[in-house]
Amino acid sequence: MAPPPSPSCCPRAPLRTAVLGATGLVGQRLVALLEDHPWFELAALAASPASTGRPYGEAVRWSLPHTLPARVATMELRPASPELEARVVFSALDADVAGPIERALAATGAWVFSNAATHRMHPAVPLLVAEVNPDHLALVGRQDFGPGAIVANPNCTTAGLVLALAPLAEAFGLRRVQLVTMQARSGAGLVGGTGLSLEDNLLPHIAGEEEKVESEVARILGACGEDGVQPHDLALSATCTRVAVTDGHTLCASVQLGREAGAEELIAAWEGFGAGSGSSGLPTAPRHPTRYEPAPDAPQPASHVELDGGMRTTVGRLRPCSVLDWKFTALTHNLVRGAAGGALLGAELAVARGLVPSG
Ligand code: NAP
Repeated sequence: MAPPPSPSCCPRAPLRTAVLGATGLVGQRLVALLEDHPWFELAALAASPASTGRPYGEAVRWSLPHTLPARVATMELRPASPELEARVVFSALDADVAGPIERALAATGAWVFSNAATHRMHPAVPLLVAEVNPDHLALVGRQDFGPGAIVANPNCTTAGLVLALAPLAEAFGLRRVQLVTMQARSGAGLVGGTGLSLEDNLLPHIAGEEEKVESEVARILGACGEDGVQPHDLALSATCTRVAVTDGHTLCASVQLGREAGAEELIAAWEGFGAGSGSSGLPTAPRHPTRYEPAPDAPQPASHVELDGGMRTTVGRLRPCSVLDWKFTALTHNLVRGAAGGALLGAELAVARGLVPSG
């Protein structure tokens, strides 16, 4: 693990920063997290052609409990294009449109931190969870997008799940994972979420989600070497469902470990995870990326999803599994750890490592 960043790693002046898809659910979280950020200056906001030219405060259906900052409300929405002249770009675009826009920005020298699925499995793009695989940032040296770079944030379910699995993989090895998810409505976005019939209902299918989780977890837990990432050889079988929860994905996992381990050892692995990792001390780093909650009815979205600023995966209900070794329940904030906060922490890590040029 790399040592925590020293103050000399911080940029001398805040870096000019843009948010693409700023009016969406992930974009709004990015706007809120970037306002008053010590390293990034929120300089430009972009959305679809239908919103371009409008003041942000008029175009956005602001969904956060705190008031939209007045300065941001008056910012004019711009096209998602290279003319944004930003050093750092956070993309919260749909995968349908993200590819060419993100590559065009990287070609102009921007460092693009993306929440879209488009580049996640590109062999030269780090699929980054700052506490889990910071060494994968080295992949940017293999990119040919231009003077900038693209770093991908995983799928919202993957991001939370790997914070529960990585401590076990590190301490005991990990062979098999059986996963069932109960995912929040906000995971479908502003547009996708409106069409969901979730009243007195559950949706047993989320298009593409299970395949994404299965491939992304193996990539993130994989080893990064001279030939790129060698995916972890664990077997993961996922069933993903959508439920009538506003924010927070609940994950029920059964795991087979590489060696025998007792409950106390698993809990110690979760509780000790992240201490001294390369992301400790970064502005958005949670105090506890993974925490075990012993109450028998924990974790619950209503009680635990906002802990540590929404950047924590809360694990609970650890008990023996009669099919594999152990089973547990984990909870993660899909819009924060699974999207905006995770991407921001990744950007902070890249800046702290001196990878993002300041000029
Ligand atoms: P969303 O609420 O539907 O927002 C989509 C955003 O993209 C809006 O700002 C929209 O602008 C903009 N947009 C749409 N078409 C565009 C175009 N042609 N050019 C430029 N901007 C365009 O979606 P979301 O939930 O925030 O998700 C954003 C991305 O993050 C997606 O790729 C999603 O898969 C990923 N993600 C989402 C979550 C989650 O929990 N929701 C978690 C992880 C990753 P207008 O308002 O002008 O239409």
